[in-house]
Amino acid sequence: MNMLDSEMVVASLRGEGYGVTDSPEDADTILFNTCSIREQAENKTYSALGRMRQLKQDHPQKVIGVMGCMAQKDQGLIFKRAPFVDIVVGPGQLQQIPDLIRTAQSQGGQHTAVSLGRTDGKVEQVKRSHETFDPLRDPEMRPTPFQAFLRIQIGCDKFCTYCVVPMTRGPEQGRPPQQIFEEAKILADQGAKEITLLGQTVNSYRFRDGETHTSFAELLHLLHEVDGIERIKFVTNYPKDMTVEVLQAVRDLPKVSPYLHVPLQSGSDSVLKRMKRGYTVGDYREMMQRIHEHLPGAAISSDFIVGFCGETEEEFQETIKLTKECRFKNSFIFKYSERTGTKSQKLMADDVPYPTKQRRNNELLAVQNQISLEDNQQFVGAPIEVLVEGRSKKSVKDNESGEIVQLTGRTHCDRIVVFQGNQRLVGQIIPIGIYEATAFTLLGTVVTSESRPQVVQLSL
Ligand code: SAH
Ligand code: SF4
Repeated sequence: MNMLDSEMVVASLRGEGYGVTDSPEDADTILFNTCSIREQAENKTYSALGRMRQLKQDHPQKVIGVMGCMAQKDQGLIFKRAPFVDIVVGPGQLQQIPDLIRTAQSQGGQHTAVSLGRTDGKVEQVKRSHETFDPLRDPEMRPTPFQAFLRIQIGCDKFCTYCVVPMTRGPEQGRPPQQIFEEAKILADQGAKEITLLGQTVNSYRFRDGETHTSFAELLHLLHEVDGIERIKFVTNYPKDMTVEVLQAVRDLPKVSPYLHVPLQSGSDSVLKRMKRGYTVGDYREMMQRIHEHLPGAAISSDFIVGFCGETEEEFQETIKLTKECRFKNSFIFKYSERTGTKSQKLMADDVPYPTKQRRNNELLAVQNQISLEDNQQFVGAPIEVLVEGRSKKSVKDNESGEIVQLTGRTHCDRIVVFQGNQRLVGQIIPIGIYEATAFTLLGTVVTSESRPQVVQLSL
C-alpha cells in the first residue's frame, strides 16, 4: 500500500517538474512515507528524521515532510518530536502534497493535512476525507515496470483489537469497479503484465451503486478481460470472506494466481477471540478445506502475531500445531506491539515478556521454515513458469556486468525463483527448470528449446 502511495506522490510531483534523487543533500524536498503498524516501524522513522536535523539547519529552504499512516496517527506530535518538519500529510491527503510544499516554501511555517478521526463526523464525511487519488501513476517508481499495484479498497472496518489500520486508513470503502477497470487498462498500456489488487481485506470487496452490486469475484471476472494483463494477484484476504464464489473465480480464471494470503494470526480460539478476529480455528479449518477442494495445489500463506496480550504457552503451542497442519507456503511472523488507541491497548495488558515473544517468534519461524523447505522441494526436477522481474539482489550487490547475470522472478503461486540468464528475459514469462530448493527460494536454469524434454505421443 505504501509503495503504491509513494508511486503516486512521485507521479504528482514529477507533473510539477520535480525529479527523484537518492541524496538528501541534492533534494529540495524530502518526504518520509511512514508505517505505524508496529512501534519499531515508527521508531525507524523518528531516527531517520533525527538524521535530517542538521541538514535542515544548514539548508532551511529544504522542505521536509512526513506522509502516511504515522502522519495520520501522530499528527502534531511529529512537530514536537521533530520541530524541523514542515509538512505532515495523512494517507488520504497525498494529492495535496504539491500545494503544501509550495505553501511551506513561500510562507514558511508548519502545515498539516490529515483525515477526520472515525468519530469526527458523519460516516460519509469521514469516508470522503480518506479517499485517495489513484489514477496518477508513475511506472518508473514500480519495483519493476511489468508489475503494478492496484488499490481496489480503502480502509478497514474489522477493528481487530491490536490494529491501528481502521484509524489510520479510515472506513472500508470499495472503489467503483469501472474506475478500477480503467486503471487496469492504463497499467496494461504502460506495460504491466502482473497486477496485484490491494485491500486490507481484499476479498471482502464490494461496491454498491443504486441497485447494482459488484462482488470481489465479479471484479476478478471484469479485470480478467483486460488485454495485456497476464497475471492477477490480490492481498490481503480475510478468512471469513473466502467464499466458494471467490474460489470458483480463482479456479475458472487462468490469469488469477492460485495464491492466497489469508492471515490466521493465532491457532488458539481464546487468542482469536481476544484479537476479535471474527472466526474460530474451526472456521479457518473449514476455509482451508474449501480452498483445497476448489483449488488443489493452491499456495496459501499467513501472518501471525506472537505474544499477544495474555498468550499462554498452551495457546502458543496451539498455533504451532495448526501451522503444522495448515502447511503454509510461507508466513510473516510478528511480535505483538502495543499501539495507542487500539482496543487491546485500552483493555488488555501487554504482559508477555519480550524474551518470550522473541523465543515464540523464533520457534514458529523454525517450524514454518521447515514446512517451506519441504513445500519448495516438490518443484525440484520440473519446469515452472516464471515472470522474470530483474537482476537478483546478489547480482546487484556483486555489481555483475554483461548480458548474462543472476536473475530473479516469481511463479504464478508467488514462489521466488533465481537463475542465470540474459537480461533481455526481464519482463517475460518463461519456463525455468528447478534443480534445488531452499525454504525461501527455488534455484533453476532457463529451459531452452534444446533442453526442453520431448513429449512423445504414442498411438497404439
Ligand atoms: N489487513 C491485513 C493485515 C494488515 S497489517 C489482515 O488483516 O490480514 C499486516 C500484519 O501486521 C497483520 O496481519 C498482523 O499480523 C500484523 N500486525 C498488525 N498489527 C500488529 C501489532 N499491533 N503488533 C504486531 N503485529 C501486528
Ligand atoms: Fe487490521 Fe484486522 Fe483490518 Fe487487517 S482486518 S487491517 S488486522 S483491523
